[in-house]
Amino acid sequence: MPTAPEPAPAPAKPRKPTTPAVRKRALPDPNKAWAKRLARLRPNLVADVLAGLETRYGTPSWERRLDPTSELILTILTQNSADLNAERAFESLRLAFPSSAPAEKHIAGQGWGGLGLSEAPPPDWPAVEAAPLPELVEAIRPGGLAQVKAPRIQATLRFIREERGDHSLEFLASMPPLDARAWLTQINGVGKKTASVLLSFCFDMPLMAVDRHVERVSLRMGLIPPKATADEAHDLYLAMLRPDQVFGAHVNLISHGRVICHARRPDCDHCPVRPRCRFVDPKAP
Ligand code: SF4
Repeated sequence: MPTAPEPAPAPAKPRKPTTPAVRKRALPDPNKAWAKRLARLRPNLVADVLAGLETRYGTPSWERRLDPTSELILTILTQNSADLNAERAFESLRLAFPSSAPAEKHIAGQGWGGLGLSEAPPPDWPAVEAAPLPELVEAIRPGGLAQVKAPRIQATLRFIREERGDHSLEFLASMPPLDARAWLTQINGVGKKTASVLLSFCFDMPLMAVDRHVERVSLRMGLIPPKATADEAHDLYLAMLRPDQVFGAHVNLISHGRVICHARRPDCDHCPVRPRCRFVDPKAP
């Protein structure tokens, strides 16, 4: 039987011209860009400042200062309070909530503005977390801002326990530094400064902590851009320094801010880095 002829194929549709895929260019890292610019416009500035500070304050050597949970709570106690008052509050916390844990030694070291803590067991963290708020406020009253800091301390301890099952922060030692910093800054009231202090002093991680002294000296010298915030300065420094320079830079910049580069009247005549400071000479090299 004859078969019906197949229908003629439909004419091919004209193809749309394809546009080549546009590749998105990664934005340059502003911290690295600043580090490069500084190196180009003011050669050796960072190296000269670090060397100048070392002639005056020495080469800081790292030694673990405290257990990391104690370090974190002590650092919260120093927020907007003098180190000496934070020490008093921590000692009082130990007395109000004693534990049977091994005694810890506080290596105060350079950069710390207090006298150092006595050698004693850390506070009983579960008891601190569960304490009635007025009791905790009373215990840390010698440090100042107790009404603000007591709930912050309890929230911090609760966060750690809920995430980890206990109050230990030793697990941070095995994390890459920036991941460990990101873990800590999830805690309400813990910023880059507090996290970096803990990770640097407990685990020798190369993270720069920028407090008001470091920020002031850095802005005056022109080490960071004039409008940089302290928060931004943390990452600017990570782009400007080699990992082995970070700890010494942190400690000596704090010492410099405390001893010579005071907020009100910097003693520029005795400053070892004066020739390169833009505060005294806006055209300093
Ligand atoms: S020259 Fe003066 S302002 Fe500049 S870093 Fe030294 S003490 Fe501070």
